[in-house]
Amino acid sequence: MIAIRSEREIALLRQANQIVAEAHCAAKEALAPGVTTREIDKIVEAVIRAADARPAFKGYRGFPAATCISVEDEVVHGIPGDRKLCAGQIVSIDIGACYKGYYGDAATTHCCGAVDAERQHLLDVTDLALSRAIRAARTGNCLNDIGVVIEKTSRDAGFDVVRDFVGHGIGLEMHEEPQILNYDNGSPGPRLKTGMVLAIEPMVTVGSGTVRVLKDGWTVVTRDGKPSAHFEHSVVVREEGGEILSWADTLRWGDRSD
Ligand code: MG
Repeated sequence: MIAIRSEREIALLRQANQIVAEAHCAAKEALAPGVTTREIDKIVEAVIRAADARPAFKGYRGFPAATCISVEDEVVHGIPGDRKLCAGQIVSIDIGACYKGYYGDAATTHCCGAVDAERQHLLDVTDLALSRAIRAARTGNCLNDIGVVIEKTSRDAGFDVVRDFVGHGIGLEMHEEPQILNYDNGSPGPRLKTGMVLAIEPMVTVGSGTVRVLKDGWTVVTRDGKPSAHFEHSVVVREEGGEILSWADTLRWGDRSD
């Protein structure tokens, strides 16, 4: 069963996601060569707690931090620590918050200093894939339409998608039905209805989308060691396409018009 949220619930989900968006803006301000991923995590956690919310990732199945920070070939679930960021790296930041029992979840990938053309292209394409997927999250479409557009956008650019990790419904739990694949699974799946709330999160790779998990039990990396990007928004299914709940005015990801 995919939950249909009332406008009252959607307002609470928007509040949770706006706390996530605010934390993303603070993380972006802090991100620079020489900064450790732990320092960014502390800033994120402080923003969430100052808003009377709870960092949703901290303690989730034992995850030790408020933020997942995944650098370069790390796809998702990187654990913040003493590692210093370097110029030229791409850095994915994923943040979750729980506010009054409702969850927010969003991710974006930043450049640390200047990055090469291939990495910039990867970020542009992943952002475009998310933007198109959000437009596909409209009433009457099928769930698989989202995976189709993410896979096509990525492959048309010569990139691959990660198949082992997926997006999800979100609401009173961080992960609810349905699973949202980043590829065409060959069957239409359920019809999207107004009021469904979906965390759509393409993970796109320069090389193969095949991944493995490091010995820390969390960090997901590409098997070929090539860079990976991750963009995510929590959106409400609407007649005109997905309404972004985690929109951040100063960062503006997920809104490519092409
Ligand atoms: Mg998510």
